[in-house]
Amino acid sequence: MDNSLITNVKKTKIQPDKKLIGLGKSQKNTAESFKEVPVRAPEFFPDLRKIIISKYKGDVVTRYDCNLRYKYFFNYKTGEAIRSNYFTEAFEYTNTDVFAANFPHMVDIGIMGHCSHGRSGLCLKSGVQCYQNGLSVEKPNMSLENFKRIAAECKDLTNQFALGGRGDPNEHENFEEILKTCRENHIVPNYTTSGFDLTDEQILISKKYCGAVAVSWYRSDYTYKAIQRFIDAGVKTNIHYVLNHDTLDEAIHLFETDSFPQGVNAVIFLTHKPVGLGQKEKCLRYNDTKVHRMFKLIKQGSRRFKVGIDGCLVVGLINSGLRFDMRYLDTCEATRFTCYIDADMNMFPCSFDINGQYGVSLRENTIAQAWNSEQFQQFRNILREGCKGCEKSLYCYGGCVLHKSIVLCPSLQEGVCSEQ
Ligand code: SF4
Ligand code: SF4
Repeated sequence: MDNSLITNVKKTKIQPDKKLIGLGKSQKNTAESFKEVPVRAPEFFPDLRKIIISKYKGDVVTRYDCNLRYKYFFNYKTGEAIRSNYFTEAFEYTNTDVFAANFPHMVDIGIMGHCSHGRSGLCLKSGVQCYQNGLSVEKPNMSLENFKRIAAECKDLTNQFALGGRGDPNEHENFEEILKTCRENHIVPNYTTSGFDLTDEQILISKKYCGAVAVSWYRSDYTYKAIQRFIDAGVKTNIHYVLNHDTLDEAIHLFETDSFPQGVNAVIFLTHKPVGLGQKEKCLRYNDTKVHRMFKLIKQGSRRFKVGIDGCLVVGLINSGLRFDMRYLDTCEATRFTCYIDADMNMFPCSFDINGQYGVSLRENTIAQAWNSEQFQQFRNILREGCKGCEKSLYCYGGCVLHKSIVLCPSLQEGVCSEQ
């Protein structure tokens, strides 16, 4: 699973609660200077929970970051997430969107090291080119002990875990314990599965602990059955649909004929990447008329289910000429609000940093240390710089740092794809 649900974050102006944050009036930051506030090294914050203050009420948690001065809400029941802009020291609104958090709001965790579905060749057969190369890579799953450590570090700081990796999380030997650990640490677990070999027990466990489950669209009998079984059991069920050059026609057809399965909560469109088994020839192109048609359908939405996209696709919407409410869209959130941890306890900006260029080992570092590492800062600096001179960089930060060929922008995609 990747950071797809981040586009559901609503960014808005919220009046801060002065009593909750207890800030002094002596701080000198102006609205503009907030953007320049660096993410501070962890030694400044021996206990981040004294900097990020959480208040739980009913199904909603409100967190206030006293250092960066912004607020974020999360509803444990609906999954709704709202983030404010920065506030001034006088608790006034600013128009400046928060660039990066002091700690990830959502962590993508690859608890699986190997994939029986991928090994069977069914992924490839369905037309999905696994970015994790589940066809041939075989590594151990994350241990329960390591998972518990991650959850303890994220407690009261992170809202959600997206479980995935190289395989179906429901096949992990400690599947239930892992989900239970999330809830014990006030974290909502979600996961993505192929639905292959799904058992009734796994469905019941999912119903008990998960916020939502996503079934990858492998257009197979087991895909449709898994979706139906989750829905029948009352599990909030999403579809993860990888958009590539070859799947566009089908996606458009399913949308236009209203043929996605009845009862799904959301269909999330994910960008194909030239990673693992993913071929660069299948990358979407900004000047493909079908891509534009797809964006129109995404804008139009559906009456039956919610429609989402991954942050990687947002640049395409920004460049589509269509009007979108930018409060509901955020571009790549890697190192800004999200990160990925693999089964071997390495932390990356996102799961597509397959060469480990920006990786940090969690065997020697805490998550806070990795979040503030040189590698993560370097990644953020590239986003912060964006594309010089382009007015849209305020919204898209120059697009994907890792794979320029997926950035649906005329200025970048022309001539860049051939270099990848
Ligand atoms: S030129 Fe860069 S900043 Fe401007 S829209 Fe394209 S990717 Fe985004
Ligand atoms: S770094 Fe690239 S692949 Fe990773 S989440 Fe951002 S846009 Fe997507």
